[in-house]
Amino acid sequence: MTAPPPSHLFYQTRRRRPMLDQARGVYMWDVDGKRYLDGSSGAMVCNIGHSNPRVLEAMRRQMEKSTFGYRLHFETEAAERLAEKTAALSPPGMEKVFFVSGGSEAVESAIKLARQYALATGEAQRWKVISRYPSYHGSTLGALAVTGYTPMTAPFDAMMRPMPKIPAPRAYLDGLDASDPETGRHYADKLEARILEEGPETVLAFIVEPVGGASTGALVPPAGYMARIREICDRYGVLLIHDEVMSGGGRTGRFFAAEHWNVAPDILAVSKGFAAGYAPLGAMVAHDRIVEAVLDDGGFIHGYTYAGNPLACAAGLAVIEEIETQGLMENATRIGALLKARLAGLMNRFPIIGDVRGEGLLLAFELVSDRAAMTPLPREVKAFDRLVEIAYGHGLIIYSRRTRGGHEGDHFLVCPPMIATDEHVDEIIEGLTLSLDQLMQELAP
Ligand code: PLP
Repeated sequence: MTAPPPSHLFYQTRRRRPMLDQARGVYMWDVDGKRYLDGSSGAMVCNIGHSNPRVLEAMRRQMEKSTFGYRLHFETEAAERLAEKTAALSPPGMEKVFFVSGGSEAVESAIKLARQYALATGEAQRWKVISRYPSYHGSTLGALAVTGYTPMTAPFDAMMRPMPKIPAPRAYLDGLDASDPETGRHYADKLEARILEEGPETVLAFIVEPVGGASTGALVPPAGYMARIREICDRYGVLLIHDEVMSGGGRTGRFFAAEHWNVAPDILAVSKGFAAGYAPLGAMVAHDRIVEAVLDDGGFIHGYTYAGNPLACAAGLAVIEEIETQGLMENATRIGALLKARLAGLMNRFPIIGDVRGEGLLLAFELVSDRAAMTPLPREVKAFDRLVEIAYGHGLIIYSRRTRGGHEGDHFLVCPPMIATDEHVDEIIEGLTLSLDQLMQELAP
């Protein structure tokens, strides 16, 4: 591997990665010509694959017209059209769209709109946003305050107002049957208990990822959970915010994951797959009544310079067109079911796979030292890091996180682009088999 040259760039750590040369479809090549199958669509972003010619052409056409129009000076056709399309894809009544440049901004916007709605409707005492543990809602201080992941939040606790958390419904860890509606009720009722404990008049909103992302490793809610959460929010006048930053955009087989349970939020956040990596783009979508109340009350005190950037919006529109015209959500459902079954099949060969979960092409597996007890692998093994490195060596990109609140447990997201074929599934399973074999050898006493 050609070592990348010394750099002025920095991210989280000193680790450097190979220099990317180009990417097409589900594949990426570094400057040495090594090919990687993008088995995590970057960070669950590149949902329609890389370098799609129709999206590039739509962006080129927009670039030739204009690349920036400041929102206080001009409306742009690209932003108007994408807002109309996004509203049409959202639940009834969710007619208003606010563009941002990423997931954290979308979540910040949702929290601030909720707060302004409380102020506009004479409920200034409502400010608490309940969320789940573990969860990830973004890295800016407001989004971090609702994030349930102590390794990322603890250093900043003194600088923000950490919000109340309830446990995520990880039935597989608690030995409960996720298909039993009693299980859904059991976990959802923790929200009601927490609202009562906090004082319902102080609770502004509940924020939840309909299908979990990196923090829980594609956690699918137990039967009845989403509907009961909706009921509880309604009972106490608490706004329901769906964080569809990762689960939105079609990856689960529906444009918004909550459609699987036919539940509508009051506000939602979407990003990642929304422009699928062709431009930094996200959106907050809100119910009409909320936005109208805030606008009547003097306006939304919030905004970003790049909001509604026409180039990003043109990319977003072309991505949605691609998803619809190429039947990519249908493909995500079919290929997702195949990949999930093949991942589950690996459990026969690898006892360290404790669980396989997810919906559509938002899939994950978790490694354990004892499947029956779901005992995590020893911390010092750092499997979350090691398996990703081994797979990288085999030309397969997967995405990992430490689970269970960030201190122990290792899960891996396997989320190729929605254009993946049966042959790509074979290739992913082959790469994972080689990688897990190697990890098992390293773990052998
Ligand atoms: N919310 C969820 C569910 C996410 O998965 C992420 C990113 O991983 C975010 C919010 C933050 O998005 P971004 O990294 O684009 O700011």
